[in-house]
Amino acid sequence: MINKDLDKLLLALREQGCRLSGGREILLSVLAAAKGPLSAAEILISPAVKRANINRATVYRALSFLEKENIIESLRLDGDERLYHLNFHHHHHLLCTACKKIEAVHVCGLLGREEKKIAADTGFKVQRHVLEFYGLCKNCAAKKK
Ligand SMILES: [Zn+2]
Ligand SMILES: [Zn+2]
Ligand SMILES: [Zn+2]
Repeated sequence: MINKDLDKLLLALREQGCRLSGGREILLSVLAAAKGPLSAAEILISPAVKRANINRATVYRALSFLEKENIIESLRLDGDERLYHLNFHHHHHLLCTACKKIEAVHVCGLLGREEKKIAADTGFKVQRHVLEFYGLCKNCAAKKK
């Protein structure tokens, strides 16, 4: 995610009256700068968090607040630690079962069509959905050849 997106996110949150104290803004900037989802332990050792001297309890509190507000999302690969990342744009995940890498993909066109069909067939009004793809990332798929 680029910084412009982070600025937009912070601005939108402030406009909604969301308080970004207690390390929340720093956590968001750490997650925005990360290449992929981060565990709480990785967030705790990040330079920005250390510099701001935010303790473990505060980090966990801020993470659970941001997740409850749907600003960040956490996911976990079978039994591993929770991994946190921004939920600024609606997305789905590609989870590599070999190296455990997680990538985000912004493909959702087909599902919009499916949701309309579900509504027409059943009268059920879909509000949201979650979809993960499990498989092998590009590197791991190349190794298997
Ligand atoms: Zn996600
Ligand atoms: Zn992989
Ligand atoms: Zn979707």
